[in-house]
Amino acid sequence: MSPPNLSNANLWRTDCYINGEWARASTGNAFTVINPSTERTIATLPDCTAQDVSIASNHAARAFKNWKTTNPKTRGTILRKWADLLIANAADIGTILTMENGKPYAEAKGEVAFAASYLHFYAGEAERQYGEVVPSLTNADNRVFALQQPIGVVACLTPWNFPAAMVTRKAGAAIAAGCSVVLKPAGETSLTALAIAHLGAEAGLPAGVLNVVTCGPQRLAEVGEALCREPTIKKLSFTGSTAVGKLLMKQCADSLKKLSLELGGNAPFIVFDDCDLETALDAVMAAKVRNSGQTCVCANRIYVQRGVYEAFSKGLVGRFQKLKFGDGFGDGVVVGPLTTGRGLEKVQAHVRDAIQKGADVLFGKPTEKSESSGDGGSGFFVQPAVLSGMKPDMLSHGEEIFGPVAPLYAFDTEEEVLEMANASEVGLGSYVCTQDHARMWRMGEGLEVGMVAINTGVIAGGEIPFSGVKHSGFGVEGGKWGLQEFQITKTMVMAV
Ligand code: NAD
Repeated sequence: MSPPNLSNANLWRTDCYINGEWARASTGNAFTVINPSTERTIATLPDCTAQDVSIASNHAARAFKNWKTTNPKTRGTILRKWADLLIANAADIGTILTMENGKPYAEAKGEVAFAASYLHFYAGEAERQYGEVVPSLTNADNRVFALQQPIGVVACLTPWNFPAAMVTRKAGAAIAAGCSVVLKPAGETSLTALAIAHLGAEAGLPAGVLNVVTCGPQRLAEVGEALCREPTIKKLSFTGSTAVGKLLMKQCADSLKKLSLELGGNAPFIVFDDCDLETALDAVMAAKVRNSGQTCVCANRIYVQRGVYEAFSKGLVGRFQKLKFGDGFGDGVVVGPLTTGRGLEKVQAHVRDAIQKGADVLFGKPTEKSESSGDGGSGFFVQPAVLSGMKPDMLSHGEEIFGPVAPLYAFDTEEEVLEMANASEVGLGSYVCTQDHARMWRMGEGLEVGMVAINTGVIAGGEIPFSGVKHSGFGVEGGKWGLQEFQITKTMVMAV
């Protein structure tokens, strides 16, 4: 278990980060991080406790006092420098990211650039936090002002599927707003978050503005609950499963925290007969295969109109046949392993269930643990697959597959597919492929989701609002809306 060969060795951080210091957990206990391509241990990290959460949040509360009044220009300059450092160190952070998450190295470096885009965007937003003057309707002598102020200490709980970008999307916005942060990255992928924290310090973030507490599965419930109950923390922002989001919301009730919950999706991907076939295939590949299918906006129910079903499924199989999968550091690999063993079991259970209920496997052997696992370890590999003849009674219709398996459903009419797409208790991403402009609007307005992508498979970006409805949660990340999540609107009424 030796550190990887990085050009900037300082990025390999195996301590938590509290008040500008690298530290062990107060108990001295540690948990292991593994490489999902080999299942071998790559590092041990502090297994923090509720006490460490309390220490980190108290430091964050002290740091907030100065940070909230630090002038916006300074905040923007630090964030910009932080973004530039991420770009300059993308090769190393990409290495760490591939080691702990499994995604192909080129994709990992792409994620680092994506992560930097949030810091760049919020560097600008830090400098544009305008309040408003509200005309008084009843009293000409009153002056009414709505001020935007930072909410205070913020807890950011980030997932393992985007170990870099979810850190900057949350913490970048919070820090730009003038908040201080206690970050709890997913245990599986905390090394990336720690490397980013190191660069934040190098960029000039004062001690205590960004703190990182790490923990493994044994301490997760304790640390999660401590973040919810901690009175100094005023806002909690979580990305992860709907089940955990609901638990955190209950646990935050007593301290009445403001919440942003970006939870699971079940994205419909709708292909109409009048689509441009190549555009639709490009889009579905981006929306299905990215990150081995482990994103909350991955196409989970691919609805194809009957007139184009055969051509689309043939085209999709052709594309899947060319996908090289294996260790993320392998040459030309575009699909890595799944990040967790739990995830592998879930994908296989979904596929077995679909086959048992009548689905056809057009390509792939997704129920077998793949052999493409490299050097003697096993790895959480699942072969990319295309399933046809999917039906609503199958498991994967109601839950995210979170793997590189494309399930195809046939439909006849626009009304029918809109109803099918909306028959879900969650509503996050969705996709529509058509060349009919009136239909684009009808579908865009009719889908019960937070985001609709038309003739493209890419939804997110620094300036773009990312949000869900129904059991996909609430709160917006990205764009100017993402900053507002970390602000309060304070009213001042002055009689003059
Ligand atoms: P999980 O429900 O065990 O954990 C999800 C996330 O919540 C993880 O990051 C975990 O660290 C965190 N978490 C779990 N329990 C917590 C607690 N008590 N307090 C605070 N944080 C806690 O799920 P999993 O096995 O990691 O993934 C299962 C499914 O969840 C996936 O297959 C996928 O459908 C969904 N998921 C969604 C996203 C997303 O981006 N929305 C990210 C990860 C997982």
